This record gives sequence, structure tokens and C-alpha cells, in this order.
Amino acid sequence: MAGLTKENPFDIARRQLDAAAGIIGLDAEVLELLRWPMREMHVTIPVKMDDGAVRAFHGFRVQYNDARGPNKGGIRFHPDETIDTVRALAAWMTWKTAVMDIPLGGAKGGVICNPKTMSPGELERLSRSYIRQVGRLLDLEKDVPAPDVYTTPQIMAWMADEYSFMQGHNDFGVITGKPLALGGSLGRGDATARGGIICIREAAKMLGINLRGKPAAINGFGNAGAFAHKLAVELLGMKVVAVSDSKGSIYNPDGFDHQALMEYKKQHGSVADFPGSTPLTDAGLLELDVTVLIPAALEDEISCRNARNIQAKIVAELANGPTTPEADKILHERGVYLIPDLLCNAGGVTVSYFEMVQNASGWYWEEEVVHRQLEKKMAAAIKAVHQAAVQYSVDNRTAAMIVAIRRVAEAMKLRGWV
Ligand code: NAD
Repeated sequence: MAGLTKENPFDIARRQLDAAAGIIGLDAEVLELLRWPMREMHVTIPVKMDDGAVRAFHGFRVQYNDARGPNKGGIRFHPDETIDTVRALAAWMTWKTAVMDIPLGGAKGGVICNPKTMSPGELERLSRSYIRQVGRLLDLEKDVPAPDVYTTPQIMAWMADEYSFMQGHNDFGVITGKPLALGGSLGRGDATARGGIICIREAAKMLGINLRGKPAAINGFGNAGAFAHKLAVELLGMKVVAVSDSKGSIYNPDGFDHQALMEYKKQHGSVADFPGSTPLTDAGLLELDVTVLIPAALEDEISCRNARNIQAKIVAELANGPTTPEADKILHERGVYLIPDLLCNAGGVTVSYFEMVQNASGWYWEEEVVHRQLEKKMAAAIKAVHQAAVQYSVDNRTAAMIVAIRRVAEAMKLRGWV
């Protein structure tokens, strides 16, 4: 929730990189390349608003590193978007695709706007106009966007349509997270949350914790957070006792019914004041005595200001960059088991990759096949991160970074970049 002073996320991303590089003694030339985006585009986007006025929006597309394959990463629509947020997210996508060992690089896009105050028509014109600007950077072999904060399958559909017009033929594979009718993948909707839930299940096994009936709190009841609620109950048997969104946080020690909460949020636009709940402060949710805490909103939610008060045994980062490096240290010292974003929320990009494979082959998988392939990929990544954590005696984030940068560095060397 709002109220905390945010650190520059790109500084954080670089500090994480430097720390992992130092531990494995990465070549200075390789490190220098990995500290910068390979390419970025800043665009001004004219949009005719419903009142007839033309407004200039500003946006970005950052292609961080494509040594391992085409750039891949979502597009955010958010009023607080900055180039450094997008750079950090693009860097994290590069490490994430490498941790998951899928043949992709990392990118991110963003537009500074407040979608909540825009009509569907204004959003459609903004989405199409953004693609007209950055479309020249995109291609199945160059860069493939996807949804992220406040962007939806409908927005992806408008973008895929605009791009197809620009190419002169249908080219839906250039964007993932599309509706099923336009070549989306079954299992994409809950993929991010499902990957995170698989991680929580495996972490609990390692820690000897029985999750059944135990409390969980979710900060950010959006796409990732709401599916995490559903799957934490369905697959892990947990009770979700607290959730929040940008308008408020709520608590019920008996746990929330997922379906009822979804319907309430649909009607009221927020989880705030859900019947039978008690309001919480932002800090209150993060510091609750729960077994699992799932940050699923924005960056920098857990920092040196609150890390000492986190009571959860497992922190599962569905959001990108919710924990600062200082907070990482504190949580690690206090024995909190943190599942880093690079691993925890990588289910989304993994099923996006499956969508690219299905689009390219024209052969569409059953949902059960998507779930099975996701399980396999998550299991292999969890194992690789765990092995690196043991080998180097480091926390899980550093371990995930080590796995990732080794793979990206290997590709850069093989290609003769360094
Ligand atoms: P979303 O827009 O669907 O949901 C974001 C939610 O966070 C909303 O409910 C919003 O009200 C809430 N929120 C916004 N500001 C908040 C605040 N200050 N405090 C509490 N809640 C706040 O977005 P999403 O797709 O669910 O993404 C959430 C996070 O997960 C982001 O960090 C995103 O990068 C990450 N992520 C998402 C996916 C995915 O597939 N959706 C994949 C990987 C990572």
C-alpha cells in the first residue's frame, strides 16, 4: 500500500546483480554488459480522449538482454511508471527466463497513465497507439510482450490486432496473454499464481511445515493475488485471512471465501469493506502472524522499515521486486524462507512461452498438459536454485541470480559478445 518511500528499483536490480556476480567472480566485461539494457525506446503517445481533446502519454519499451533468445516481458499501465522501474523489471525478466531455462531474453514496457480513470475506448486507443510506436521493435524473433499490472487479455487483443494491421497479416504470436479465441493458452490465467503455489508447496516440504489450515496473507488482490487466494485454498488447503488492494486491506481470522470476495470486488471495485471483515493498515497486513505472506502488488513493500516485524515463515514474492536488498538481509538473518520473484512468479512467463510455442506450431495443448509442463519447469528451477543456495551458502534470491547470470553469461560468451 502507499505511504512508504520507494527506493529506485533499477538501483536495487543492479545491487542484486553485483552481489551475485561478486560471489561467483563473474568477468568484469560480462558484468558491465549485464548492468545495462541493450536497447530502450521512449515514446510519446497521442490519444484522442472521449471529450475530443488529444492527450500526450509517455511510455517505454526496454529490451534488456536477448543473448538467450527473443526478449520477453509484460506491459504495465500505471500512473507511477518510470523508466527505471521498467529497466529493473526488464532486467528481472532476463534473469527470470534464465532461471526457468526457457530460451528467451528479458524486456518490459510501460505507459504512464491511470487506467482506472479511462474509458474502454480511451484505453483501446492508448493500447493501439502504443503498439504503433513500439511495434517496430517487436517480432516473434525479437520481442514478445504480455500483460502486467493493469493490462488485460482484452488490451493484449487490441495490441495483437494493431500489430497484425501493421504487418499486413495476422501475427498474434507477437503478444502472449491473449484471449483463448485469439490463440491464447489454456492455463495462462492462473499460471503466475500456480507457479508460486508450487514453490510454496515445495518450500513447506523442505521446511517440514504442514500448510493445511494454516493462515496466509496476500498483499495485492489483482490477477496474480486473486488466483493465489483460490489456489492456496484449493491446492494447499490454507486459510487466506488477509488481502489488500490499492484501496484498502481486510482481515478475517476464519479466512475469506474466494468466490464471494471476487464477486464483491467485481461489484465494488475493491476488497475494502467486504462484509464480515475488519480493516487493517497496510503495515498490519504485512506484519500479520501468518505462515505464508504473499506480496502480489508492486515494488518495495518489504524494506528495512518493516522487515524485522514480518512474522511469516515463508514469503512468496508473486510481485516483482517487493523486497529491498536491506530487507532481504534482515529476513535471511531472521530465518524467514523467501521465495524470490525470479522463481516464485515465473509461472506466468513460462506459460507465456508455452503460448508462443503453441502459436508457432499451430497446435493447442489441453489445460492438463500446460499444468504438467509448468510443474516440470518449476520443479527443475526450484532444484537449481536450491542447489546454488547450498553450494554458495547464500539466500535464495542470490542463488536464483547466480543460476540466471551464469546461463546468460554462457550464452553471451558462446555468441562471442565478450
Ligand atoms: P493487477 O493489476 O491485476 O493487480 C495488482 C493489484 O495490486 C490490484 O488489486 C491493485 O489494486 C493492487 N495494488 C496496487 N497498488 C497497491 C498498493 N500500493 N498496495 C496494495 N495493493 C495494491 O496486476 P498483477 O498482474 O496481478 O501483478 C501484480 C504483481 O505481480 C506485479 O508486481 C507484477 O509485475 C507481478 N507479476 C504478475 C504476473 C502476471 O502474470 N499477472 C506475472 C509475473 C509477475
